[in-house]
Amino acid sequence: MIEIDHVSKWYGEFQVLDDCTTRVAKGEVVVVCGPSGSGKSTLIKTVNALEPFQKGEIRVNGIPVGAPGTNLPRLRAIAGMVFQHFELFPHLTVMENLCLAQVQALRRKPEEAHTRGRALLERVGLAAHQDKHPGALSGGQQQRVAIARALAMDPVVMLFDEPTSALDPEMVNEVLDVMTDLAQEGMTMMVVTHEMGFARRVADRVLFMDGGRIVEDCLKESFFGDLSARTERTRQFLSKIL
Ligand code: ADP
Ligand code: MG
Repeated sequence: MIEIDHVSKWYGEFQVLDDCTTRVAKGEVVVVCGPSGSGKSTLIKTVNALEPFQKGEIRVNGIPVGAPGTNLPRLRAIAGMVFQHFELFPHLTVMENLCLAQVQALRRKPEEAHTRGRALLERVGLAAHQDKHPGALSGGQQQRVAIARALAMDPVVMLFDEPTSALDPEMVNEVLDVMTDLAQEGMTMMVVTHEMGFARRVADRVLFMDGGRIVEDCLKESFFGDLSARTERTRQFLSKIL
């Protein structure tokens, strides 16, 4: 579903991604972890063309990313993204947040968008809040709206960039639960997170990034199971967060 091939990216002289290669198969959940500044956000944002890259190739469901003529609205619909800071439109209601891109990018009729929005709000447990503005909701509720908004576009993959790291601790689980359900329903997911409990329960594979490179890419069982086979850097990192 996601093919990342020898991707490198520079900000001026500074190389932020260094020859990154990985695959995410249909239905697979891949957790990306690593120290701050290691390039996790940059990597995940290249997948739906929020960040350009200078070398390598990325395809999402066969669609080349970054090639001239790529249909960006289409790409961003099929690769739904959820950010650390929700990024909902503050001046729109919850339902309007869910409908806007469905109508503008997918050309759905407003009633159709509303029906889909309603079903998704029920799924994330927020049907009662559809007419509120995001500012009236808790952080955990806002993040569930953001997930519903991405799902409204019928994505084939979901990208998450530290979706719980801006939340108060008591709200982390309500968001992880929605993500866990999504994974169990077979969604293909790439998730930047330091929630290692989530990784242990839900991930199929774990990537570890350091200095712009993917230094580990292995099955969850070996990532957590055999620390002696991990790099020194990975062990240091895990010893701080486990
Ligand atoms: P992570 O998500 O792993 O914390 P990022 O992908 O956000 O890392 O950033 C990787 C590196 O790229 C960091 O050193 C960061 O300072 C640098 N960086 C990110 N965005 C820019 C930018 N727009 N211009 C220059 N450097 C940047
Ligand atoms: Mg980041």
